[in-house]
Order: sequence, then C-alpha cells, then structure tokens
Amino acid sequence: MREETTAVLGLGASGESAARLLRAEGRRVVAYDAGAGAALETRAAALRAEGVEVRLGAERPEVEGVALCVVSPGVRADGPWVSAFRARGAPVISELELGWSRHRGRTLAVTGSNGKSTAVKWLAESLAAAGRRAAIGGNYGPPASAAVRATPPPDWLVLEVSSFQLETVEQFRPDVGALMNIHPNHLDRHGDFAAYRALKLRMFARQTPDDTAIAPIELAEAFAGARGRAITFGPAASGADWEYDRGVVWRGGVARLDVRGTWFENPTLGLTAAAVAAALEACGVPLSAAESAARAFQPLAHRTALVAEIGGVRYVDDSKATNLAALMAAVRGAEGPVRLIAGGLGKNEDYRAAANLLAARAAKIYLIGSSAPAMAEAWAGVVPCESCGALDEAFARARREAAPGDVVLLSPGCASFDQFGSYAERGERFVRLVRAAEAAEGQME
Ligand code: ADP
Repeated sequence: MREETTAVLGLGASGESAARLLRAEGRRVVAYDAGAGAALETRAAALRAEGVEVRLGAERPEVEGVALCVVSPGVRADGPWVSAFRARGAPVISELELGWSRHRGRTLAVTGSNGKSTAVKWLAESLAAAGRRAAIGGNYGPPASAAVRATPPPDWLVLEVSSFQLETVEQFRPDVGALMNIHPNHLDRHGDFAAYRALKLRMFARQTPDDTAIAPIELAEAFAGARGRAITFGPAASGADWEYDRGVVWRGGVARLDVRGTWFENPTLGLTAAAVAAALEACGVPLSAAESAARAFQPLAHRTALVAEIGGVRYVDDSKATNLAALMAAVRGAEGPVRLIAGGLGKNEDYRAAANLLAARAAKIYLIGSSAPAMAEAWAGVVPCESCGALDEAFARARREAAPGDVVLLSPGCASFDQFGSYAERGERFVRLVRAAEAAEGQME
C-alpha cells in the first residue's frame, strides 16, 4: 500500500514550517507552490534535504492518495487547488490549525481587523511576566507550526489569527479567544462584509463551555450560538464587562488595570487594554503582570510611532494603518491639527466614513498612490486635499506647510503594494525622510 501523503499548499514561511513539522513526524510530505524564483528555490532545496518533496511552478497538486491537505494563508480556500482536495474528500486545514493541533498546552488567540499584533505582544509579555512560558505564533511572529515546536514546550500558545487562516479551520478551538473589532477589510478576498464577519466569528465556533470568548460590546451578538463564556469589553458606560475609562480598565465598578502614562493610554489602545485584561483574567493571570508589561512595552514599529519633533512639528509613522478604521483611529488620537499623508492600494472602502472626522481634525491631506482619486472625491469637499503622487513629494509639501503644533501623520489607510514592497518599507521611507529633515534642520541652527 502506498504511504499516506500530506500535501502542503504554498511555500511561504507558513508552508515551510508546516512541511518541516510534518516531516519531523515521519510523514511523506509534498509541498506545492505555483511560483518559482531564487528565494523559493533556496527554501525548496533546504526542505528537500530534509526529505520533503517540493514542486515549484506547480500547475495543480497531485490529489491521489493524499490523506491531509495543509493550506498556507496565501492560498485561497475557494481556489482550484483547495477545491481539488475538497472534491476528493481529503480533510483541508490551515497551517494555523496544524500547528495548534500539535500543542499540548493552552491557547490564547486574538483576531480582528486592527490591533491584533499589539495585543498579542502585550499578552505574551504579560504571561511571561507572570512566569508562564508563552510562545507567540500565527500571523505575527513565527508560524504556529514553528512556535509549537519550541523547547521546552510552551504553556500558552498566543496566536494572532487572520481571517485568511480562519477560512480553513475545522477543529481550531482556543481556550481563550479575543475578537478585537471588525472593520471592513480584505473584502477583495472575502467578497462582502457579512462573509468577512462570519469568518472572524469562526474563532468561537468550536469553543466549549469551559472556554472564554471575548468581544467588543457592540459585537455581543457575535456570541449567539457560541458555547464559551461570553465576556465583553468597551468604553466607559458602554455596559461592557470590562470598560476602559481615561487610562484605567474597570470591571464591575472596580479599577483593575491602570495604564496611565503607558503607550496604551488613549481611546483606541485603551480598548485593547480592556480586552487584554479580560483575556488575562480568563487565563488566570494576575493583572499586575499586564501592568508591568504595559509599562515596559516597546511598541511595534510603524504603529502611530512618533519619529521626531522638528521645529514644533511632530512626525508620526503609522504606516501599518492599512485600512480606513486604522487611519481614523490615528487621526482621532493625534494631538494637534493633522497634516495627513494617506493613500495607496485601496480596499474598496467607502472613504466618506472619515469625512466628518477629517473635516474636524485635519488641516490638509496629502494624497499618494492609486487610491488618491477616490479619497479626493470623498474628502476634498470638506478638507483641502492635494494629490502628490509619491510619498517623497507628499512629505516635502507637508513639511513645507506645517506650522508649530501640527502633526504630520503618515496613516495611509491602504495597503502599500502599489508603490512599496510592504507597509514596513513604506514606513522606513517615511522615517528616512524625517531623519533627513531633522539633519537639514540641525545644519540650519
Ligand atoms: P494588526 O495586527 O491587527 O494589523 P496592529 O497592532 O499591527 O494590528 O495595528 C495595526 C494598525 O491598527 C495600527 O495603525 C494601529 O494604530 C491601528 N489600531 C490598533 N488598534 C485599533 C483599533 N482598535 N481600531 C482601529 N485601529 C486600530
């Protein structure tokens, strides 16, 4: 009889980790990627040396005799490759589920449109501060299939879960799951908002009454049909179980987590604090650990990061804002009139949703990238907008026109791929421009 084969679809970092994990278990593994090129060849060579069969430039995978199909987040669940396996009745799981299924400890998972990575980092650092072995995995950090192989094995697997990974989960069941928020995102892939929302809610679908499901109060209906303990978070007086009010997280009238003076003291990240407090309590971790982790917290790069203040003008890099909700959060949180640099590869969002906020808070908007015409159409009636084409030009104009007290904010509200390789590259370009401006200013003094 032929040996049972596991197929791995997609050979990015996730597919590579999945193939390694499966091979280490002694399985026959065949990994497929439609792409080719030097980086993939290098990865393929390393895997082949470990006994994984790799097919690059693959047109279609071999489905015969395959007992399990593991899908990377970059491979569409409704595409022809996955469909071929489904048609044969082979179980199809995401790489995330594969990694999770090998974990013997407990799992804390975070999903949502915005704020996941920040929450995951803080949660993992809080667990560590409380003496638990925590391993980060998923969308942020190493793939789950790699994280789970840490030695000694982690007590807690802290997963950042994207909607892509939720497309192909069957059994995935976090002991504690937190949904941060749901804003329109990735609708190019998921079709419409209802489909995207339904995907996010799959995180709670397999939970048992011993598990905890955490969601914003306004999404409380998300718990309908979920069997875990339902816990809500929200702003002051929202009626949520955990409420954030001016630097403090409250539960049932008792102040439980004080983040005053930390990175989290603002209306957006304050909600993260409320969710994190709820999650850690469900994990049985004292919130003093969250507080010390908050005080030591090093923000991730390109998330509303103050790069420099030059001549009384603050320059803030929020390149990670790849959707309108993140852009709006950054504008709301900015102290002072905003000169906003926005635009990039849009996600078919209705930009008019930000018009009132921008009219109130923005001095001017400098538009870049392919979304510029749509943004101008939505905002130019209420706030000055100028199409600048590229980031360098937008920066130069914003700098020229900024007055002391202004904030020059890069918060594109769009993906970067029309002009950059990634949001990180876009943010680094902005940081370089600020540094150059700083150096020029220094010379003038
Ligand atoms: P994710 O991992 O979900 O992309 P990050 O922590 O990397 O989240 O933050 C992504 C962007 O979202 C940043 O620009 C950040 O300032 C913004 N953000 C964080 N929390 C929220 C929120 N609750 N609502 C809107 N935007 C947010």
